[in-house]
Amino acid sequence: MLPNLTIDSRRLWEMLMETARIGGTPKGGIRRLTLSDEDRRVRDWFRAECEALGCTVHVDTAGNMIAIRPGKDNARKPIAMGSHLDTQPTGGKFDGVLGVLAGLEAMKTLHQAGYETQSPIALINWTNEEGARFSPSMVGSAVYAGALTQAQMDACKDRDGVTQGEALDAIGYRGTVAPGAIGFAAYFELHIEQGPVLEEEGRTIGIVNGVQAIKWFTGQITGRESHAGTTPMTYRRDALSAFAEAVVAMRQIALDHAPGMATVGIVSAEPGSPNIVPGTVKFTLDTRHPSNEVLGEMVAKIRTAFEEAATRHKGVADIQPLQDSPAQPFDATCVAMVRQAAEKIGVSARELTSGAGHDAMYTARVCPSAMIFVPCAEGLSHNETESATQDDCAAGAQVLLEAVLAYDARG
Ligand SMILES: [Zn+2]
Repeated sequence: MLPNLTIDSRRLWEMLMETARIGGTPKGGIRRLTLSDEDRRVRDWFRAECEALGCTVHVDTAGNMIAIRPGKDNARKPIAMGSHLDTQPTGGKFDGVLGVLAGLEAMKTLHQAGYETQSPIALINWTNEEGARFSPSMVGSAVYAGALTQAQMDACKDRDGVTQGEALDAIGYRGTVAPGAIGFAAYFELHIEQGPVLEEEGRTIGIVNGVQAIKWFTGQITGRESHAGTTPMTYRRDALSAFAEAVVAMRQIALDHAPGMATVGIVSAEPGSPNIVPGTVKFTLDTRHPSNEVLGEMVAKIRTAFEEAATRHKGVADIQPLQDSPAQPFDATCVAMVRQAAEKIGVSARELTSGAGHDAMYTARVCPSAMIFVPCAEGLSHNETESATQDDCAAGAQVLLEAVLAYDARG
C-alpha cells in the first residue's frame, strides 16, 4: 500500500526563488556557470539542506553530489532523483534546478512525515550538465556512466585556459568517491520540457520515453587571408562565404529530414579585421534526430555540403566529432511508474521523446531511468525569461515522489 504524501508546493517554489538569487541576473535569470564561485555557493547550500534532513552527502571525483537518505534496508541500492544546479551564462530559473529542488522537496516531505522507505533514496546534483563553460555537456553523468574518463573531464579547458580539473579543485568539490561506485536501483529526473508541446496541448506532465540521438562536431573551413581592397572577388579563398553557403544548405538538409535539427551555435572568422578576407572560420555543429540511422544520413549530407561549399571557394572543410549520444530509450518499468503517478494525481499527461540531452540519458546506460517533463512558457529555455508555473512545478515534484515511492514499493 502506497502512502499518501503530498509535497509542499509553496516550499518548493520558495526554494526555487531563494536559490535563483545565487547568480541571479537583473533580467530574472541565473548565471551560474559550472564550477564557478556561484556554483560553489549553491552546492554549499544544497549540501547543508540535505544534511539537515539526515542525508549523507557523498561527492565523487567528478564533483557529482549524491545525498542519500537511509531506508529500512540499506543493503539495497538507492532509488535516485536528480538533475543539475549549473546554468547557461544567461540561463533561467528552472532548467536543471527544478529537478534537484523537486527531489529535495520530496526528501523534505518524507522527512516531515517520518516516512521510512524500504530502499535508501538518493538525490544527485550532477556536475557540468550545461556544457557552457567546458564542452561537452552532461560531463558529470557521462563520467559516472563510464562514457567519459575522469582524465578527459579534467583536461577540458574553458575560454580562459582554465581546465575543468583545476576549476573543480578550486571550488573544493573534488570528492574521493569513484564515479559510478554508488549504484542506483533506478533514476528519475524531473525537468522543464524546454519545448512547446505540453503548453500547446494544455498538458501538465510529459512522460518521457527516451532521448533523441545527438551528434556534436567542431568544424573549420580554411581558405586564405588576403587584402579586402585588392583581391578581386573571383580570386578570393573566402572561408566565411563558403561557411555561409554551407549553413544555408545545412538548414535545408535538416528540414528535409524533419524532425531533424542542425545548428551552428558558435562561429568565429579569423583573423578578424575589417579589411582582410577571412582565411579561417571555426564553428560548432549540433545535430539531432530521434533515429540514429536518419541522423547518420543527415550528418553525411551536412559534411558534404560543407566540403562542397569550401571547394567552391578554393578552401577545405574539416569537421571533427566532439560528442556522440545515440538515441537512448528509457526503462519501460520506470516510464510506466511515471504514467501511473500522473494518473494517480489526476493531471493531463502525454508521452514524448526528449529533444534535449539530459543526465538521465547517461544514467539510462547503467540503471533503469525515466524522466518527467513539465511545461515552460512558450517552450522557452536557455533564456533568462524561462518560466514555469508554481502549480506545474508542484505537479512535477508530486509525480517524481509518487514514482519513487512506487519503485520502492515494488521491492
Ligand atoms: Zn537541464
